[in-house]
Amino acid sequence: MQLEETIEIKGRSIIGLKDGADSGQSVKALNPATGEEIEPPFVQATTEEVDQVAELAQSAFLEYSRLSGKERAKFINQIANQIEALGDTLTQRVMLETGLPEGRVKGETGRTTGQLRLFASLAEEGSWLNARIDTAIPDRQPLPKPDVRAMQRPLGPVVVFAASNFPLAFSTAGGDTASALAAGCSVIVKAHSSHPGTAELVGRAVQKAAEITGMPEGVFSLMFGGGRTVGSALVTHPDVKAVGFTGSTGGGTALMKLAAERPEPIPVYAEMGSVNPVFILPGALAERSEAIANGLHVSATMGVGQFCTNPGVVMLQSDDAGNSFKDAFSGLMESHADEVMLNRSIQKAYSDGVAARDGNSNVEVIVSGNPDTTSGPCHGATSVFEATAENFLEDESLSHEIFGPGTTLVRYSSQGDLLKIAENLEGQLTATIHGTDTDLEENKELIAILERKVGRIVFNGFPTGVEVCPSMVHGGPFPATSDGRSTSVGAFAIDRFTRLVAFQGCPQSLLPDELKDGNPLRIQRMVNGSYTKD
Ligand code: NAP
Repeated sequence: MQLEETIEIKGRSIIGLKDGADSGQSVKALNPATGEEIEPPFVQATTEEVDQVAELAQSAFLEYSRLSGKERAKFINQIANQIEALGDTLTQRVMLETGLPEGRVKGETGRTTGQLRLFASLAEEGSWLNARIDTAIPDRQPLPKPDVRAMQRPLGPVVVFAASNFPLAFSTAGGDTASALAAGCSVIVKAHSSHPGTAELVGRAVQKAAEITGMPEGVFSLMFGGGRTVGSALVTHPDVKAVGFTGSTGGGTALMKLAAERPEPIPVYAEMGSVNPVFILPGALAERSEAIANGLHVSATMGVGQFCTNPGVVMLQSDDAGNSFKDAFSGLMESHADEVMLNRSIQKAYSDGVAARDGNSNVEVIVSGNPDTTSGPCHGATSVFEATAENFLEDESLSHEIFGPGTTLVRYSSQGDLLKIAENLEGQLTATIHGTDTDLEENKELIAILERKVGRIVFNGFPTGVEVCPSMVHGGPFPATSDGRSTSVGAFAIDRFTRLVAFQGCPQSLLPDELKDGNPLRIQRMVNGSYTKD
């Protein structure tokens, strides 16, 4: 298939300012709407190139990590400008490789550039550094107090695994890359094989931004190749100091294991699966059943259900009001047209998951999830299942994610059922509660349990559509993520790629500018226990 492009896609890895060599092995992207191959072929990186990229990233890190937040911000803002300059070439390529509609692709482009600019301003603003200064008291009795100053410092080269379901916002220049660059780390991206052309276009935008702003070569590289070959070699390379990942539980836990077994273990920030439970409480159902059914249908089918925040399990009371809700919601899901999923393996994983639930005697099939066979090779159809609270608690498989437009309704009879279900949950990215003020007042215990289980509790809303803002938490206890203390969206994401370093008795001339007397960068610091910019 020929695409009219003003910017050439070379099909080569980006190694600092150069292109990868021809290893003799290449793969092409597939158009999920038609099943056709898309030109050009993408050359798979070699192990020699992995070494080359990691060494380059390490030497770039030594220089880049010393730059001021202002200089890093210039680079990151320039990346956003260069992505915008790709214009329609980028939009068309993303649509071709992912089957996502134009509106979504344009929206995600805006989210990606907005995210980059958020991290650029954060890098410059500096309060995230947690700079603290405790000045010396030489004549303190019985012992003198030393001068101690501390701040967050970048970890080193970071490997980012691009996600299939967000080809821009969680991929080459997505949240992991933006937060690592803002922290002062160099970045090596392992492209996702589902959208390599998109990866290269964005990668070349980053490369150009690095050239324009005079960044050290190797501050950014992009590699094509398999996860188990190129990806694993990057994670185990001694120069690599952290990993960012969004994808399957199997992929994320494999990388956690590899990283933990290295002679020097390194952190892996993996965002994996979640069923994002929704609890519909009786008062809310009586007040606005139709509105909740409509909102849930939009949320469950958004992005063909291929969002990590997709509402996969919904707790619904087992009475007439619950039955009416079930009928309304199932009707909306049933009439929802089949849509193109991101790639064949995701489509297959979804249809396998639906088939397994179909054959499970603990659930009833309400909407089948079988796509019209004439639709296309990667189409997915909506599914709705129903289980009793008792069966849901007994059958662990019902709380596993089916990545796609499917939802399981769990029918509860009492508040006791809800508390048992909540207590039984694994770690989740989100939980949602629909309740009136009285409902919420009467369900404080449920909320308290959910706080232990999830990264974000949504009240009277829907979990999809994660706002990118300083207070956002897109994380949650294992297995939703590899580290429940972290988030992959929002300003707190920068903390993942840093560690604290204290300087005791350090001469002024050798201190980082952020910790020098007189606060030359005018950043927020804690000086002798009080926050100040003085
Ligand atoms: P994936 O299979 O986990 O792959 C993500 C990336 O990790 C790819 O670059 C892949 O390399 C690499 N990888 C996978 N397993 C690996 C291993 N054992 N060792 C080293 N690298 C490995 O995810 P996906 O392709 O995006 O989608 C597959 C399934 O993941 C979906 O059906 C869905 O269930 C889940 N998923 C979840 C989320 C979420 O946000 N929760 C998002 C996307 C996908 P290759 O290039 O070799 O594939």
